Amino acid sequence: MESTLSARDRVGVQDFLLLENYTSEAAFIENLRRRYKENLIYTYIGSVLVSVNPYKELEIYSKQHMERYRGVNFYEISPHIFALADNSYRAVRTERRDQCILISGESGAGKTEASKKILQYYTTMCPTRHNTHYIRERLLQSNPVLEAFGNAKTLRNDNSSRFGKYMDVQFDYKGAPIGGHIINYLLEKSRVVHQNHGERSFHIFYQLLESGDNSLLTRLGLQKTNPQHYHYLVKVNLKVYFSFVCFCERTFVMIFTLHIIYICNLLFSLSFSLSFSFSLSLSCHHYQGNCPRVSSISDKHSWKIVTKLLGVAGSALSEALTHKKLVAKGEEMISPLNLDQVLSARDALAKAIYGRTFTWLVQKINQSLVYYTSKCSSVIGLLDIYGFEVFQQNSFEQFCINYCNEKLQQLFIELTLKSEQEEYEAEGIGWETVEYFNNKIICDLVEEKFRGIIAILDEECLRPGDASDITFLEKLEDTLGGHAHFVTHKLANGKTRKAVGREEFRLLHYAGEVNYNVTGFLDKNNDLLYRNLKEVMCQSGNQIVKQCFHPDELIDQRRPETAATQFKLSLAGLMDILILKEPSYMRCIKPNNGKQPGQFEEVLIRHQVKYLGLMENLRVRRAGFAYRRSFEAFLQRYKPLCPDTWPNWRGQLLDGVSTLVKHLNYKPEEYRLGRTKIFIRFPKTLFLTEDALEI
Ligand code: ATP
Ligand code: MG
Repeated sequence: MESTLSARDRVGVQDFLLLENYTSEAAFIENLRRRYKENLIYTYIGSVLVSVNPYKELEIYSKQHMERYRGVNFYEISPHIFALADNSYRAVRTERRDQCILISGESGAGKTEASKKILQYYTTMCPTRHNTHYIRERLLQSNPVLEAFGNAKTLRNDNSSRFGKYMDVQFDYKGAPIGGHIINYLLEKSRVVHQNHGERSFHIFYQLLESGDNSLLTRLGLQKTNPQHYHYLVKVNLKVYFSFVCFCERTFVMIFTLHIIYICNLLFSLSFSLSFSFSLSLSCHHYQGNCPRVSSISDKHSWKIVTKLLGVAGSALSEALTHKKLVAKGEEMISPLNLDQVLSARDALAKAIYGRTFTWLVQKINQSLVYYTSKCSSVIGLLDIYGFEVFQQNSFEQFCINYCNEKLQQLFIELTLKSEQEEYEAEGIGWETVEYFNNKIICDLVEEKFRGIIAILDEECLRPGDASDITFLEKLEDTLGGHAHFVTHKLANGKTRKAVGREEFRLLHYAGEVNYNVTGFLDKNNDLLYRNLKEVMCQSGNQIVKQCFHPDELIDQRRPETAATQFKLSLAGLMDILILKEPSYMRCIKPNNGKQPGQFEEVLIRHQVKYLGLMENLRVRRAGFAYRRSFEAFLQRYKPLCPDTWPNWRGQLLDGVSTLVKHLNYKPEEYRLGRTKIFIRFPKTLFLTEDALEI
């Protein structure tokens, strides 16, 4: 077969498995650098695709490029996201095996762009079924809609996804995409009430002001702002998006009305001033920064708008925002809240409304992606989820995100390393022990019943009296003191190199050490919305609010699950989905913090290579055999090198391969023949054979 690789494609090695010095991190990074310089942003580690964000448009995603990758094997052509997409698709098409593509990497590394490219590949290259064009459109358009509500500008990424996303693309028996389903994880809803300096709230707020029509804005009591303020946003026509996902005009308007609660932070201007001596400016101070201004609206007027849009009685809402209802011995007691409590009730309400509406929106999109008249034969799941986060200060959010990555690593071990060993067995080539660190011990440390960090956190959240972030830390120390992967200031004992602060605990993750500051853990885990606020929202006359706040919640006397427990449960659900599928992995790397093309910052990249576990990945894949190929593919490629196999081998494939490798002088320790595949231990063997092909 003629090689489709050009000389340029061969810069460095296109598969890290072929690196001579595979244990050297320096050699790994040098290979990445050489390729990146030539705009070769993709490299494999076996079947894992590694990419480095180019921060510029490359001419490698056209339909012609897609066609080049259809039905072609990894090693025949330059590494590409389309190769990964096509490989999974072929397994679906020919063998009906469910697939998943797991994309990870830090913020700004290119996960979301990659998942969009995969989706584009399927919607462009797969056959179309009669009457399913609209499903393709919706699959594609669900992205900008979700991005509007779930993405925001952060310091790390102008279009940062503030939620994790798993999307199933469903195919019928002919391989045509016929539907989809999305699950969202851990939306950073706190962004509606607070943004760090230089960051923004969710895109939708700015898009609404920029592209909402005047009559809508007037109805919402808002003013159109200068669009130039938001020039970084892709120009959007939200109505077009929503019509694609099948939303009627009324629904469209109502979605926005809900979010106005945020813009109308003037919420606090009214009745509070009677009970407390703080003014509008104080309450607004909390929201200043990049939030759209609505200062020209008079307070009473905006209060009216808020309550009207939410469909609740003004008096009931102001009462619920300023008072707490307790039920003791069957009697209801109403007590006023202090200023801090009012502010946190306000924030909790805004967050609850935003978070629940987001989930509602995902449900609506899912309804629009169901294609009733055809049966789904197999699926390809795309997971676009935050990679390990290690900042100067790490809090509850990083704890959850890094826990999620431990779970994904566990899955990787289950699915990949185990399957590696199973393959050796299935091929009958004897047992090759592959040493790897099993991170189950860390997953247990976080999630174990009664003794795990989440269980201890929940216990402190439930405990009445003096429970605080510090008592939580103390309890962790008492319970987990002897654990090999848990350290605090008191327990440090030279177990780790860096210092642990007095309000921190450190976890020794599979990818490295991370210190977590416990401040805010209890509050964030509680994520409480006072009962009387829920009651008011449940009585709303607005259809969407009604669906988001169901009266059943009030009947259920049990305490709602804490944020960490909810996350733990949703991750367990995700693992159940993924474990039944055949995985492909993509690891994305961000080359610099300046979002600049061509800048390859070594320190930053080394950090990611470590936290993405790439060296470990490579080591494990190389521990056994560096390369394997089916007899058929091997013969097909190298048959010109032996007179007995050229032009065609007519006997058994196994005999053909045997004849070929004998002729090529392979030593017994260099290779093993399985039942259907040849396993080659050293890359050099393969290189020499490839070189012979070129002569
Ligand atoms: P987050 O975790 O914050 O959501 P992410 O990993 O999803 O980050 P993306 O939003 O996919 O990151 O990428 C960030 C930016 O990098 C994109 O907006 C785009 O400008 C650029 N980028 C990423 N991948 C590519 C690519 N393949 N080609 C060109 N530009 C890219
Ligand atoms: Mg993203």
